Amino acid sequence: MAAKPIRIAVLKFSHETVTFLPYDTTEADFTFEGSPAKGEALLAAEPRSYLGGFVKVAREFDGVELIGIESPLEAKTGSGSGWLTRDTYEHFVARMIAGIVADGPFDGVYMALHGAMAVRGVPRPEAELARRVRAIVGPEAFIAATFDPHGNEDAEFLRHANLAFTVKYFPHYDDYLQGERAARTLVRAIRGDYRPATVTIKVPIISPTVLQWTGASPWMDLVQRALTWEAREPDVYVNFFFGFPWADVPDVGMTFQVQTNGQPELARKIARDMAEAAWRKREALVHTTKIHQIAYGVVLAAQAVANGRTPVVLADHSDRSGYATWLLRAIVERPLSKTLIATVTDAEAVDALLAAGVKPGDPFDRAIGGRADVSAGAPVRIRGTVLRVTKGLGRNDGDHWIHVGFGDGNVLLLSRYLAQVIETRSLIEAGLDPDAFDVIALKSRVHFRRGFDDTGFARTILLVEPDEPFLGTVRLEGLPYETVDLQAYYPYGNPAFEIPD
Ligand SMILES: [Zn+2]
Repeated sequence: MAAKPIRIAVLKFSHETVTFLPYDTTEADFTFEGSPAKGEALLAAEPRSYLGGFVKVAREFDGVELIGIESPLEAKTGSGSGWLTRDTYEHFVARMIAGIVADGPFDGVYMALHGAMAVRGVPRPEAELARRVRAIVGPEAFIAATFDPHGNEDAEFLRHANLAFTVKYFPHYDDYLQGERAARTLVRAIRGDYRPATVTIKVPIISPTVLQWTGASPWMDLVQRALTWEAREPDVYVNFFFGFPWADVPDVGMTFQVQTNGQPELARKIARDMAEAAWRKREALVHTTKIHQIAYGVVLAAQAVANGRTPVVLADHSDRSGYATWLLRAIVERPLSKTLIATVTDAEAVDALLAAGVKPGDPFDRAIGGRADVSAGAPVRIRGTVLRVTKGLGRNDGDHWIHVGFGDGNVLLLSRYLAQVIETRSLIEAGLDPDAFDVIALKSRVHFRRGFDDTGFARTILLVEPDEPFLGTVRLEGLPYETVDLQAYYPYGNPAFEIPD
């Protein structure tokens, strides 16, 4: 007997918003060649990520039809831009709702979300999107979503949606897998084979993302604990949101969600177990990784080079705009040799150089970077030679890297947009030999471990941040929160934590 045909609307609206950045995220940031996307173009937009996993598995079921609803892809600015304006959010959500109305009715909806989107005037944008979608598809349809572990979520989302699947590892290794799980469980729910019974518990811990590397305990232990619950109980899914602290929003901080097949008591038991385990380990959770101030980190890098412990990765984890020059300045002043700086963002400089027809061999003498806001510091003057011009990391054509050779074997990559280099492959594709450098200076917190640590590439890894606690700092008390009361979160206050029965 053929199963009843199933129609699923697929949409995407994802942003990790740093609300302390001074410039808003706008419609233009989400609008470029290929974005917004709909239909097959949307379904094929991210073959290796959440969407790809969802589409792959949903199509393994007979009689499932996927309809790509017009959606913006990842913003050009990545996570390097601030609050979404209300107009931006309303514009894209209105398009989505109109698409769902036009192409409906639907048995299910899948939404590729992040969880740390922050919109001026909309306190919980993902939950609000779910609420509006629910109003269109009705109470019988099932709504499922995938999330990034840096989402700031509370119980509100699952009041309107039925299912959520969150990446467990940082670096984010399992996004495709979570898309697959979302597809399978959504189809099962629509067919009456999975009855979502979920529990959400927030834990009053707030932590800078650089400390949330799941390659280290106790983050690793909590991931393992979640995996163990999923292994020992059929149809259980455990979501562990680490939280995203650079957002002045009401649902900031750590969250656990547990989903079961019609077993609310089991969901509660597991959520309580996870939350209590995290709370017991709270002190260790916020002391996982040593963060050096930049000047000292550069001294340690020079020592590592002298001792032959190369290559050294110097990661400025705190730069959220890409424009920060603190590390570049320290490298120039030391000076370090055979050092690759990847990258310093300066859109104005890149545009001016491209407009002037920059080419290899051109002399280079320009003050670059800084200025974006106080956390970016002052521009640093670099005198050298243009080595080459390559395409940048971004998906949009306007993204370029200008390679500048200077000093004793140093190379600066000047980028049009914030670039988080997480794989050595990105450097090789840009014509660089990563092995040719003693030191590689990156703008990354944890993602770089994918290509530079987990592969065994770097022999020395040093995480650094500027002296002052700027917006990406581990010293959250230095940030101008207005909505968030840090005293309500460990380790900034000493909140009581009791889970009601
Ligand atoms: Zn993330």
